[in-house]
Amino acid sequence: SMPQKLAANILLLGAENVGKSALTVRFLTRRFIGEYGDIESIYSHNDKIDGQEISFNIWDSLYPQSCFTPESITDKQLQWADGVILVYSICDRSSFDVVRQQVQLIRQSRKMSVNAPIVIVGNKRDLQHQRTVSSEEGRLFALSADCGFFEISAAETYHGVLLVFHELLVRIKESRAIK
Ligand code: GDP
Repeated sequence: SMPQKLAANILLLGAENVGKSALTVRFLTRRFIGEYGDIESIYSHNDKIDGQEISFNIWDSLYPQSCFTPESITDKQLQWADGVILVYSICDRSSFDVVRQQVQLIRQSRKMSVNAPIVIVGNKRDLQHQRTVSSEEGRLFALSADCGFFEISAAETYHGVLLVFHELLVRIKESRAIK
């Protein structure tokens, strides 16, 4: 029999300028586009992964720099989400700090379960010479918070982006099986 179609609401979080939109567009179109408009949107995208039809809804949150704080995550966003992708840039330490704070906020929130599926992404891996967050540090933090972890370059390849969504999906399925 055909496996049931799976719907997954995915929330993208992180500081500004880390590549959230680049990652979303790369996933949706397999392309990289250098600049994006300042629109907060929910994108819908159907895909087939391991023979299963998936209906993705991706909420790419946008905070104007002037009023961004790690606490800008809303209850509405967390209630909506089945899984979260938290993005930082490997050459922007403060964006890593934002991810660390946001993971704590999500883990403490009553709007998501304590083991809610999260994947942490260190983006802009192509900018090695500007790196200020080591792979080790990113990986160890993700491990300590029970999150998936990948370093990728949304600018350079589609493959890493695909791995991120696959990993999140596996975690979402696991969390549903446990419930
Ligand atoms: P957002 O504010 O988090 O949505 O970030 P954007 O997706 O708008 O990207 C911010 C800037 O970083 C843009 O100029 C992108 O072209 C650039 N960018 C995004 N991903 C990468 C990447 O993997 N490598 C490099 N070098 N630049 C990137």
